[in-house]
This record gives sequence, C-alpha cells and structure tokens, in this order.
Amino acid sequence: MQNSTATILFVDDDAAMREVMALILGEEGFEVITAGDGVEALAELRRNLPDLIISDLHMPRMSGIEFLSVVRRRFPAMPAIAVSGAYDLSQSYAAGVMADAFYPKGQSHPDELIDAIRQLMYKPLKRPTNYHPCQPPKVQSARYGQDARGASLLLLTCTDCLRAFSVANVSGSEDGDLHAHCPSCGALVQFTCDVAPSVPISEVPTVEPRVQLGRVA
Ligand SMILES: [Zn+2]
Repeated sequence: MQNSTATILFVDDDAAMREVMALILGEEGFEVITAGDGVEALAELRRNLPDLIISDLHMPRMSGIEFLSVVRRRFPAMPAIAVSGAYDLSQSYAAGVMADAFYPKGQSHPDELIDAIRQLMYKPLKRPTNYHPCQPPKVQSARYGQDARGASLLLLTCTDCLRAFSVANVSGSEDGDLHAHCPSCGALVQFTCDVAPSVPISEVPTVEPRVQLGRVA
C-alpha cells in the first residue's frame, strides 16, 4: 500500500491523546512517532523527517504555534495539521497561517482527520513550498552584544528552534570548532568568533527579559 511506510509525527502534551491517536493512525497504516511538546518534536526532527506533522497548540515550553512556525520556516514543504481543543478563534487563525489544516480535538470520528492527512500527504500543497528554508548556517559567525551590566557576550541563533540566545565570558578559545548548547531546546550550535583567546567560553542561561538586574555597589 502506498501509505504503509508514511510516517506521521504527532505532538501533544496529553499522553492519553498521544496513545489514542497513535492507535488510530497506526490502524490506518501510518507509522506514528509521538512527542510531548515542541522541544521534543524538534529533537525527533533531528533524527528523522516525517511525511506529515500533527501538533497540538497548547503545550508547555514551546507552544504549537511557535513549533509549527519553526517547521514552516525550516521545512517549507512539510505538511502540517494543527489540533486544538480550545475554541479560540485567534488561536485557530494563527494555526491556519502556520498549518495546512485545523482539526478540533475531541471529534468523535477521526475520518475527517484521516481525509485531511491523505489529502495533504499525497496531493500537492495549495501554498508555495519552493521558497528557501530559513536555516541558519551549520557553523554561524557569532554576533557581539552586551548584557545589562555591559559585559560582552556572543549572540547566537539556534539552528533547531530558531530562538536567539547568548553565551557569556566570550574571550574565545581556540579558533573554530566552538559550540554552545541552546538553552531552549538543547541543540548543539556550532559557531565561530574572532575574539582573542584568553578566557574559555562558558554557557549561561539567558536572562529573563523582565528581570531587572540590580547594580552591585
Ligand atoms: Zn534551540
């Protein structure tokens, strides 16, 4: 059968929902991979690219909207379906921009979902998919910045979740082959910088934007 090897990545923080959907989609002949949130889903995408993604919208750590927007930017041709139980029009609207279809959770007969999956998987998508993926280079050149106290730091963009983060104590180590872990998703980000070596680079958690740093006397 044509769809016997097609893989679907199903993302939902509700374990029961994941089980039920894995069962339903499995019975339809799809191979199903599940993830508990956007960060886990990005880790799955590091291993394997599915043929289609179904994502819940309300999830901890990284919302479905953000996850789907990362997917759309990094993998423009990947069909995606947004799932939500909340009858929130603005959420549905945002999901409509980031996803190819919207499926209300709790629908007793998933035939509509199965139809949408087949439609998206085996027919050309009704949107442009040929634009260049927004993918930061494998090894990026770090930008320079300062923290609230004027200490220099390096600014990087995560190649996986596309969130920006900073690395402090930047006086560099040896040339090339520098790397830092993204504080959001844990991805290893390789970068270069042209600062003179003296102090080793250390990873610091990004300061919460709303936290006001006090001046030390
Ligand atoms: Zn990341």
